[in-house]
Amino acid sequence: MTSAASDGGTVAHRVLPRPEAPSARQAALIDREEAHTAHNYHPLPVVVAEGDGAWVTDVDGRRYLDCLAAYSAVNFGHSHPVLLDAARAQLDRITLTSRAFHNDQLGPFVDELAALAGKDMVLPMNTGAEAVESAIKVARAWGYRVKGVPDGAANIIVMAGNFHGRTTTIVSFSDDPDARDGFGPYTPGFRTVPYGDAAALAAAVDDDTVAVLVEPIQGEAGIVVPPAGFLPAVRALCDERRILFVADEIQSGLGRTGATFSCDLVGVVPDVYLLGKALGGGIVPVSAVVADREVLGVLRPGEHGSTFGGNPLAAAVGRAVVALLATGEPQERARLLGSRLHAGLSRLIGRGVLAVRGAGLWAGVDIDPALATGREVCELLLQRGVLAKDTHGSTIRLAPPLVIDPADLDWAVEQLEFVLQDLAAKAAAMPSSNILK
Ligand code: PLP
Repeated sequence: MTSAASDGGTVAHRVLPRPEAPSARQAALIDREEAHTAHNYHPLPVVVAEGDGAWVTDVDGRRYLDCLAAYSAVNFGHSHPVLLDAARAQLDRITLTSRAFHNDQLGPFVDELAALAGKDMVLPMNTGAEAVESAIKVARAWGYRVKGVPDGAANIIVMAGNFHGRTTTIVSFSDDPDARDGFGPYTPGFRTVPYGDAAALAAAVDDDTVAVLVEPIQGEAGIVVPPAGFLPAVRALCDERRILFVADEIQSGLGRTGATFSCDLVGVVPDVYLLGKALGGGIVPVSAVVADREVLGVLRPGEHGSTFGGNPLAAAVGRAVVALLATGEPQERARLLGSRLHAGLSRLIGRGVLAVRGAGLWAGVDIDPALATGREVCELLLQRGVLAKDTHGSTIRLAPPLVIDPADLDWAVEQLEFVLQDLAAKAAAMPSSNILK
Protein backbone atom coordinates (compact mmCIF):
# COMPACT_ATOMS: atom_id res chain seq x y z
CA MET A 1 0.00 0.00 0.00
CA THR A 2 1.19 3.52 -0.61
CA SER A 3 1.71 5.96 2.20
CA ALA A 4 0.13 8.85 0.32
CA ALA A 5 -2.61 9.27 2.88
CA SER A 6 -0.49 8.72 5.98
CA ASP A 7 -1.05 12.30 7.07
CA GLY A 8 -4.76 11.98 6.42
CA GLY A 9 -4.43 14.67 3.78
CA THR A 10 -4.83 13.29 0.28
CA VAL A 11 -8.56 13.86 0.27
CA ALA A 12 -9.79 17.37 1.06
CA HIS A 13 -12.11 16.36 3.87
CA ARG A 14 -9.46 14.38 5.73
CA VAL A 15 -8.08 17.56 7.17
CA LEU A 16 -7.36 18.88 10.68
CA PRO A 17 -4.81 16.82 12.58
CA ARG A 18 -6.44 15.01 15.43
CA PRO A 19 -4.94 15.60 18.87
CA GLU A 20 -3.92 12.71 21.10
CA ALA A 21 -6.25 13.97 23.84
CA PRO A 22 -9.74 15.43 23.41
CA SER A 23 -9.97 19.23 23.13
CA ALA A 24 -11.11 21.23 26.17
CA ARG A 25 -14.55 21.51 24.58
CA GLN A 26 -14.85 17.76 24.04
CA ALA A 27 -13.40 17.01 27.47
CA ALA A 28 -16.03 19.22 29.11
CA LEU A 29 -18.84 17.45 27.26
CA ILE A 30 -17.39 14.04 28.10
CA ASP A 31 -17.06 15.01 31.78
CA ARG A 32 -20.66 16.17 31.85
CA GLU A 33 -21.85 12.92 30.29
CA GLU A 34 -19.71 10.79 32.61
CA ALA A 35 -20.99 12.65 35.65
CA HIS A 36 -24.65 12.01 34.88
CA THR A 37 -24.97 8.80 32.86
CA ALA A 38 -24.72 5.28 34.20
CA HIS A 39 -21.31 3.91 33.23
CA ASN A 40 -22.59 0.97 31.24
CA TYR A 41 -20.41 1.88 28.22
CA HIS A 42 -16.76 2.86 27.75
CA PRO A 43 -16.88 5.18 24.72
CA LEU A 44 -13.85 6.37 22.78
CA PRO A 45 -13.01 10.00 23.61
CA VAL A 46 -14.69 11.74 20.69
CA VAL A 47 -17.86 13.85 20.76
CA VAL A 48 -19.75 13.59 17.52
CA ALA A 49 -21.99 16.42 16.39
CA GLU A 50 -22.93 15.59 12.79
CA GLY A 51 -22.92 12.78 10.27
CA ASP A 52 -23.13 12.48 6.52
CA GLY A 53 -22.80 9.20 4.65
CA ALA A 54 -19.85 7.30 6.10
CA TRP A 55 -18.36 10.37 7.77
CA VAL A 56 -19.05 12.04 11.10
CA THR A 57 -17.83 15.39 12.41
CA ASP A 58 -16.90 16.14 16.00
CA VAL A 59 -17.81 19.29 17.89
CA ASP A 60 -14.48 20.87 16.85
CA GLY A 61 -15.13 20.28 13.15
CA ARG A 62 -12.82 17.28 12.73
CA ARG A 63 -14.06 14.54 10.46
CA TYR A 64 -13.84 10.80 11.09
CA LEU A 65 -14.64 7.84 8.91
CA ASP A 66 -17.27 5.84 10.80
CA CYS A 67 -16.21 2.20 10.56
CA LEU A 68 -18.70 1.00 13.18
CA ALA A 69 -21.94 2.44 11.78
CA ALA A 70 -23.62 2.17 15.20
CA TYR A 71 -23.12 -1.59 15.23
CA SER A 72 -24.69 -1.80 11.75
CA ALA A 73 -27.74 0.32 12.62
CA VAL A 74 -26.40 2.91 10.16
CA ASN A 75 -25.96 0.48 7.24
CA PHE A 76 -27.34 3.07 4.82
CA GLY A 77 -25.15 5.89 6.08
CA HIS A 78 -25.74 8.94 8.23
CA SER A 79 -28.41 11.36 7.03
CA HIS A 80 -29.48 9.21 4.09
CA PRO A 81 -31.60 11.66 2.06
CA VAL A 82 -34.37 9.19 1.17
CA LEU A 83 -34.68 7.94 4.74
CA LEU A 84 -34.64 11.46 6.15
CA ASP A 85 -37.33 12.51 3.68
CA ALA A 86 -39.50 9.60 4.76
CA ALA A 87 -39.02 10.54 8.43
CA ARG A 88 -39.63 14.26 7.82
CA ALA A 89 -42.78 13.63 5.83
CA GLN A 90 -44.14 11.40 8.57
CA LEU A 91 -43.12 13.83 11.34
CA ASP A 92 -45.44 16.36 9.74
CA ARG A 93 -48.34 13.91 9.67
CA ILE A 94 -48.51 11.76 12.83
CA THR A 95 -45.85 9.97 14.87
CA LEU A 96 -47.65 7.84 17.44
CA THR A 97 -51.09 6.34 17.68
CA SER A 98 -50.39 3.25 19.86
CA ARG A 99 -51.77 -0.05 18.67
CA ALA A 100 -55.09 0.81 20.30
CA PHE A 101 -55.93 2.16 16.82
CA HIS A 102 -54.74 1.44 13.32
CA ASN A 103 -52.40 3.81 11.50
CA ASP A 104 -51.95 4.16 7.76
CA GLN A 105 -48.23 3.23 7.75
CA LEU A 106 -48.21 -0.03 9.70
CA GLY A 107 -50.20 -2.11 7.19
CA PRO A 108 -47.96 -1.22 4.22
CA PHE A 109 -44.81 -1.64 6.38
CA VAL A 110 -45.59 -5.15 7.61
CA ASP A 111 -46.82 -6.20 4.17
CA GLU A 112 -43.66 -4.93 2.47
CA LEU A 113 -41.29 -6.31 5.13
CA ALA A 114 -42.98 -9.71 5.11
CA ALA A 115 -42.63 -9.78 1.31
CA LEU A 116 -38.92 -8.90 1.55
CA ALA A 117 -38.42 -11.80 3.95
CA GLY A 118 -40.70 -14.21 2.10
CA LYS A 119 -42.88 -14.68 5.18
CA ASP A 120 -46.52 -14.01 6.06
CA MET A 121 -46.45 -11.88 9.19
CA VAL A 122 -44.51 -9.32 11.21
CA LEU A 123 -44.53 -8.53 14.92
CA PRO A 124 -43.24 -4.95 15.15
CA MET A 125 -41.22 -3.90 18.19
CA ASN A 126 -38.54 -1.27 18.88
CA THR A 127 -35.17 -2.58 20.05
CA GLY A 128 -33.29 -5.72 19.14
CA ALA A 129 -33.56 -7.16 22.63
CA GLU A 130 -37.33 -6.73 22.47
CA ALA A 131 -37.43 -8.68 19.22
CA VAL A 132 -35.46 -11.50 20.85
CA GLU A 133 -37.68 -11.47 23.94
CA SER A 134 -40.76 -11.48 21.70
CA ALA A 135 -39.44 -14.44 19.72
CA ILE A 136 -38.81 -16.39 22.93
CA LYS A 137 -42.43 -15.84 23.98
CA VAL A 138 -43.73 -16.69 20.51
CA ALA A 139 -41.61 -19.87 20.32
CA ARG A 140 -42.83 -21.02 23.72
CA ALA A 141 -46.46 -20.25 22.84
CA TRP A 142 -46.02 -22.09 19.51
CA GLY A 143 -44.51 -25.02 21.41
CA TYR A 144 -47.47 -25.29 23.77
CA ARG A 145 -50.29 -24.44 21.36
CA VAL A 146 -49.08 -25.96 18.10
CA LYS A 147 -46.37 -28.53 18.79
CA GLY A 148 -48.04 -29.88 21.92
CA VAL A 149 -45.19 -29.45 24.42
CA PRO A 150 -46.48 -29.83 28.03
CA ASP A 151 -47.10 -26.44 29.64
CA GLY A 152 -43.98 -24.96 31.23
CA ALA A 153 -41.64 -27.62 29.80
CA ALA A 154 -40.35 -25.84 26.67
CA ASN A 155 -36.62 -25.48 26.15
CA ILE A 156 -34.72 -23.33 23.68
CA ILE A 157 -31.20 -24.13 22.43
CA VAL A 158 -28.76 -21.23 22.23
CA MET A 159 -25.15 -20.96 21.13
CA ALA A 160 -22.03 -20.41 23.24
CA GLY A 161 -20.61 -16.95 22.62
CA ASN A 162 -24.04 -15.56 21.73
CA PHE A 163 -25.06 -11.95 22.00
CA HIS A 164 -28.77 -11.24 21.77
CA GLY A 165 -29.14 -8.17 24.00
CA ARG A 166 -29.12 -7.26 27.67
CA THR A 167 -32.49 -8.00 29.27
CA THR A 168 -32.63 -10.27 32.29
CA THR A 169 -33.89 -13.25 30.28
CA ILE A 170 -31.35 -12.73 27.50
CA VAL A 171 -28.38 -12.42 29.87
CA SER A 172 -29.64 -15.59 31.54
CA PHE A 173 -28.33 -17.52 28.53
CA SER A 174 -25.25 -15.40 27.87
CA ASP A 175 -21.84 -16.84 28.71
CA ASP A 176 -20.21 -13.41 28.83
CA PRO A 177 -19.49 -12.73 32.52
CA ASP A 178 -19.70 -8.95 31.98
CA ALA A 179 -23.23 -9.28 30.66
CA ARG A 180 -24.42 -11.93 33.12
CA ASP A 181 -22.61 -12.01 36.44
CA GLY A 182 -24.42 -10.30 39.28
CA PHE A 183 -27.77 -10.06 37.51
CA GLY A 184 -29.41 -13.30 38.64
CA PRO A 185 -31.70 -15.02 39.39
CA TYR A 186 -31.70 -16.24 35.83
CA THR A 187 -34.55 -17.31 33.56
CA PRO A 188 -34.59 -21.10 33.08
CA GLY A 189 -35.42 -22.95 29.88
CA PHE A 190 -32.25 -22.51 27.82
CA ARG A 191 -29.50 -24.95 26.85
CA THR A 192 -26.17 -23.85 25.43
CA VAL A 193 -24.19 -25.74 22.79
CA PRO A 194 -20.89 -24.79 21.11
CA TYR A 195 -21.41 -22.45 18.15
CA GLY A 196 -21.02 -24.27 14.86
CA ASP A 197 -21.23 -27.76 16.39
CA ALA A 198 -24.11 -29.55 14.66
CA ALA A 199 -23.53 -32.82 16.53
CA ALA A 200 -23.71 -31.11 19.92
CA LEU A 201 -26.88 -29.38 18.82
CA ALA A 202 -28.47 -32.65 17.74
CA ALA A 203 -27.54 -34.19 21.08
CA ALA A 204 -29.04 -31.29 23.04
CA VAL A 205 -32.55 -31.26 21.53
CA ASP A 206 -35.42 -33.29 22.91
CA ASP A 207 -39.17 -33.51 22.40
CA ASP A 208 -39.69 -30.31 24.40
CA THR A 209 -37.29 -28.22 22.34
CA VAL A 210 -39.29 -25.45 20.70
CA ALA A 211 -36.56 -23.34 19.11
CA VAL A 212 -32.91 -23.04 18.18
CA LEU A 213 -31.81 -19.42 18.51
CA VAL A 214 -28.76 -18.63 16.36
CA GLU A 215 -26.85 -15.63 15.10
CA PRO A 216 -26.00 -16.77 11.54
CA ILE A 217 -22.74 -14.85 12.07
CA GLN A 218 -21.85 -13.95 15.67
CA GLY A 219 -21.26 -10.20 15.74
CA GLU A 220 -20.29 -9.25 19.27
CA ALA A 221 -18.22 -12.44 19.60
CA GLY A 222 -15.90 -10.99 16.94
CA ILE A 223 -17.66 -11.57 13.59
CA VAL A 224 -17.46 -15.35 13.91
CA VAL A 225 -18.65 -17.22 10.81
CA PRO A 226 -19.76 -20.82 11.53
CA PRO A 227 -18.57 -23.77 9.41
CA ALA A 228 -20.33 -23.79 6.00
CA GLY A 229 -22.47 -26.81 6.84
CA PHE A 230 -23.69 -25.58 10.20
CA LEU A 231 -26.73 -23.49 9.29
CA PRO A 232 -27.97 -26.11 6.76
CA ALA A 233 -27.56 -28.71 9.52
CA VAL A 234 -29.61 -26.53 11.92
CA ARG A 235 -32.30 -26.29 9.23
CA ALA A 236 -32.34 -30.05 8.68
CA LEU A 237 -32.48 -30.83 12.41
CA CYS A 238 -35.26 -28.32 13.01
CA ASP A 239 -37.27 -29.86 10.16
CA GLU A 240 -36.70 -33.37 11.45
CA ARG A 241 -37.59 -32.60 15.09
CA ARG A 242 -40.23 -29.94 14.41
CA ILE A 243 -38.34 -27.12 16.05
CA LEU A 244 -38.38 -23.42 15.11
CA PHE A 245 -35.14 -22.16 13.58
CA VAL A 246 -34.89 -18.58 14.88
CA ALA A 247 -32.19 -16.55 13.12
CA ASP A 248 -31.11 -13.41 14.95
CA GLU A 249 -30.22 -11.22 11.96
CA ILE A 250 -30.38 -8.03 14.03
CA GLN A 251 -26.74 -7.23 13.29
CA SER A 252 -25.98 -9.57 10.38
CA GLY A 253 -29.08 -8.83 8.31
CA LEU A 254 -30.36 -6.11 5.99
CA GLY A 255 -27.46 -5.89 3.59
CA ARG A 256 -24.40 -5.97 5.84
CA THR A 257 -23.02 -9.28 4.57
CA GLY A 258 -23.79 -8.75 0.90
CA ALA A 259 -27.23 -10.36 1.07
CA THR A 260 -30.57 -9.31 2.49
CA PHE A 261 -30.11 -11.89 5.24
CA SER A 262 -26.84 -13.57 6.07
CA CYS A 263 -28.70 -16.91 6.02
CA ASP A 264 -29.03 -16.29 2.26
CA LEU A 265 -25.27 -16.72 1.92
CA VAL A 266 -25.65 -20.44 2.64
CA GLY A 267 -29.07 -20.84 1.03
CA VAL A 268 -30.89 -21.38 4.31
CA VAL A 269 -34.34 -20.06 5.21
CA PRO A 270 -35.07 -19.97 8.96
CA ASP A 271 -38.59 -20.13 10.37
CA VAL A 272 -38.21 -16.83 12.17
CA TYR A 273 -36.09 -13.77 11.35
CA LEU A 274 -35.25 -11.30 14.09
CA LEU A 275 -34.51 -7.87 12.66
CA GLY A 276 -33.56 -4.56 14.21
CA LYS A 277 -30.78 -1.99 14.02
CA ALA A 278 -30.69 -1.00 10.30
CA LEU A 279 -34.45 -1.54 10.03
CA GLY A 280 -34.81 1.89 11.64
CA GLY A 281 -32.46 3.49 9.11
CA GLY A 282 -30.31 4.85 11.95
CA ILE A 283 -33.16 7.26 12.69
CA VAL A 284 -35.60 5.50 15.02
CA PRO A 285 -35.48 2.18 16.87
CA VAL A 286 -37.43 -0.37 14.81
CA SER A 287 -37.27 -4.13 15.31
CA ALA A 288 -39.37 -7.02 14.12
CA VAL A 289 -40.06 -10.70 14.43
CA VAL A 290 -40.86 -12.00 10.94
CA ALA A 291 -42.37 -15.45 10.43
CA ASP A 292 -45.20 -17.40 8.87
CA ARG A 293 -48.77 -17.41 10.14
CA GLU A 294 -48.37 -20.82 11.78
CA VAL A 295 -45.84 -19.21 14.14
CA LEU A 296 -46.82 -15.56 14.68
CA GLY A 297 -50.50 -16.44 14.46
CA VAL A 298 -50.26 -17.95 17.96
CA LEU A 299 -50.39 -14.53 19.65
CA ARG A 300 -53.75 -13.32 20.87
CA PRO A 301 -54.77 -9.77 21.81
CA GLY A 302 -53.29 -8.71 25.13
CA GLU A 303 -50.57 -11.36 25.24
CA HIS A 304 -47.78 -9.15 23.94
CA GLY A 305 -47.20 -5.56 22.96
CA SER A 306 -45.31 -2.32 23.15
CA THR A 307 -46.62 1.25 23.18
CA PHE A 308 -44.22 2.39 20.48
CA GLY A 309 -44.15 -0.89 18.48
CA GLY A 310 -45.44 -0.29 14.96
CA ASN A 311 -45.73 3.47 15.43
CA PRO A 312 -46.32 5.41 12.21
CA LEU A 313 -42.94 7.17 12.27
CA ALA A 314 -41.09 3.87 12.72
CA ALA A 315 -43.25 2.22 10.07
CA ALA A 316 -42.68 5.04 7.56
CA VAL A 317 -38.90 4.85 8.03
CA GLY A 318 -39.03 1.05 7.97
CA ARG A 319 -40.91 1.18 4.67
CA ALA A 320 -38.18 3.38 3.18
CA VAL A 321 -35.52 0.93 4.43
CA VAL A 322 -37.38 -2.04 2.92
CA ALA A 323 -37.72 -0.15 -0.38
CA LEU A 324 -33.96 0.47 -0.43
CA LEU A 325 -33.25 -3.20 0.21
CA ALA A 326 -35.78 -4.30 -2.40
CA THR A 327 -33.56 -2.69 -5.06
CA GLY A 328 -30.71 -5.04 -4.10
CA GLU A 329 -28.23 -2.16 -4.38
CA PRO A 330 -27.05 -2.03 -0.74
CA GLN A 331 -26.48 -5.78 -0.78
CA GLU A 332 -24.50 -5.58 -4.05
CA ARG A 333 -22.40 -2.74 -2.67
CA ALA A 334 -21.65 -4.68 0.52
CA ARG A 335 -20.63 -7.68 -1.59
CA LEU A 336 -18.24 -5.70 -3.80
CA LEU A 337 -16.81 -3.46 -1.09
CA GLY A 338 -16.61 -6.43 1.25
CA SER A 339 -14.23 -8.23 -1.14
CA ARG A 340 -12.14 -5.09 -1.24
CA LEU A 341 -12.10 -4.76 2.56
CA HIS A 342 -11.19 -8.39 3.13
CA ALA A 343 -8.48 -8.32 0.47
CA GLY A 344 -6.97 -5.25 2.13
CA LEU A 345 -7.17 -6.69 5.63
CA SER A 346 -5.78 -10.08 4.66
CA ARG A 347 -2.59 -8.32 3.55
CA LEU A 348 -2.09 -7.28 7.20
CA ILE A 349 -2.05 -10.87 8.47
CA GLY A 350 1.39 -11.50 9.93
CA ARG A 351 1.99 -7.75 10.17
CA GLY A 352 0.27 -7.11 13.47
CA VAL A 353 -2.91 -8.97 12.57
CA LEU A 354 -3.34 -12.63 13.52
CA ALA A 355 -6.61 -13.38 11.74
CA VAL A 356 -9.47 -11.74 9.86
CA ARG A 357 -13.02 -13.08 9.73
CA GLY A 358 -16.32 -11.92 8.37
CA ALA A 359 -18.56 -11.60 5.35
CA GLY A 360 -19.49 -8.69 3.14
CA LEU A 361 -18.64 -5.31 4.59
CA TRP A 362 -18.13 -6.73 8.07
CA ALA A 363 -14.83 -7.83 9.51
CA GLY A 364 -13.43 -9.00 12.83
CA VAL A 365 -9.70 -8.34 13.00
CA ASP A 366 -7.63 -10.12 15.65
CA ILE A 367 -4.74 -7.87 16.65
CA ASP A 368 -1.56 -9.54 17.87
CA PRO A 369 -1.95 -9.11 21.65
CA ALA A 370 1.84 -8.76 21.94
CA LEU A 371 1.43 -5.45 20.10
CA ALA A 372 -1.65 -3.86 21.67
CA THR A 373 -5.17 -4.43 22.90
CA GLY A 374 -8.10 -3.85 20.57
CA ARG A 375 -8.99 -0.78 22.61
CA GLU A 376 -5.49 0.69 22.15
CA VAL A 377 -5.69 0.12 18.40
CA CYS A 378 -9.10 1.82 18.29
CA GLU A 379 -7.71 4.81 20.23
CA LEU A 380 -4.85 5.12 17.74
CA LEU A 381 -7.25 4.76 14.81
CA LEU A 382 -9.32 7.56 16.32
CA GLN A 383 -6.29 9.85 16.23
CA ARG A 384 -5.95 8.99 12.54
CA GLY A 385 -9.59 9.76 11.86
CA VAL A 386 -11.12 6.27 11.84
CA LEU A 387 -13.83 5.18 14.28
CA ALA A 388 -13.84 1.48 15.10
CA LYS A 389 -14.71 -0.60 18.16
CA ASP A 390 -12.93 -3.38 19.97
CA THR A 391 -14.51 -6.53 21.32
CA HIS A 392 -13.20 -9.33 23.53
CA GLY A 393 -9.75 -7.91 24.25
CA SER A 394 -7.76 -8.03 21.07
CA THR A 395 -10.38 -8.02 18.30
CA ILE A 396 -11.56 -4.95 16.44
CA ARG A 397 -14.58 -4.97 14.20
CA LEU A 398 -15.04 -2.96 11.07
CA ALA A 399 -18.55 -2.36 9.77
CA PRO A 400 -18.63 0.92 7.86
CA PRO A 401 -21.87 2.17 6.31
CA LEU A 402 -22.53 0.38 3.02
CA VAL A 403 -22.49 3.75 1.25
CA ILE A 404 -18.78 4.20 1.99
CA ASP A 405 -16.64 5.39 -0.90
CA PRO A 406 -14.19 2.68 -2.09
CA ALA A 407 -11.22 5.08 -1.75
CA ASP A 408 -12.26 5.88 1.81
CA LEU A 409 -12.45 2.17 2.60
CA ASP A 410 -8.89 1.70 1.31
CA TRP A 411 -7.83 4.71 3.36
CA ALA A 412 -9.30 3.17 6.54
CA VAL A 413 -7.37 -0.06 5.99
CA GLU A 414 -4.28 2.02 5.33
CA GLN A 415 -4.72 3.83 8.65
CA LEU A 416 -4.89 0.47 10.41
CA GLU A 417 -1.70 -0.53 8.63
CA PHE A 418 0.04 2.65 9.86
CA VAL A 419 -1.19 2.11 13.42
CA LEU A 420 0.20 -1.42 13.39
CA GLN A 421 3.50 -0.25 11.86
CA ASP A 422 3.85 2.39 14.58
CA LEU A 423 3.11 -0.15 17.29
CA ALA A 424 5.59 -2.64 15.82
CA ALA A 425 8.26 0.07 15.64
CA LYS A 426 7.63 0.98 19.27
CA ALA A 427 7.78 -2.66 20.34
CA ALA A 428 11.06 -3.14 18.43
CA ALA A 429 12.55 -0.06 20.07
CA MET A 430 11.77 -1.37 23.55
CA PRO A 431 14.77 -2.75 25.47
CA SER A 432 14.65 -6.55 25.21
CA SER A 433 14.52 -6.77 29.02
CA ASN A 434 11.15 -4.98 28.88
CA ILE A 435 9.81 -7.24 26.17
CA LEU A 436 10.68 -10.28 28.25
CA LYS A 437 8.90 -8.97 31.34
N1 PLP B 1 -29.10 -9.39 18.67
C1 PLP B 1 -27.91 -9.16 18.11
C2 PLP B 1 -27.31 -10.19 17.19
C3 PLP B 1 -27.22 -7.99 18.39
O1 PLP B 1 -26.02 -7.78 17.83
C4 PLP B 1 -27.81 -7.05 19.25
C5 PLP B 1 -27.11 -5.79 19.59
O2 PLP B 1 -25.93 -5.62 19.34
C6 PLP B 1 -29.06 -7.32 19.80
C7 PLP B 1 -29.68 -8.51 19.48
C8 PLP B 1 -29.72 -6.36 20.75
O3 PLP B 1 -30.14 -5.23 20.07
P1 PLP B 1 -30.51 -3.88 20.90
O4 PLP B 1 -29.21 -3.32 21.38
O5 PLP B 1 -31.20 -3.01 19.89
O6 PLP B 1 -31.39 -4.30 22.01
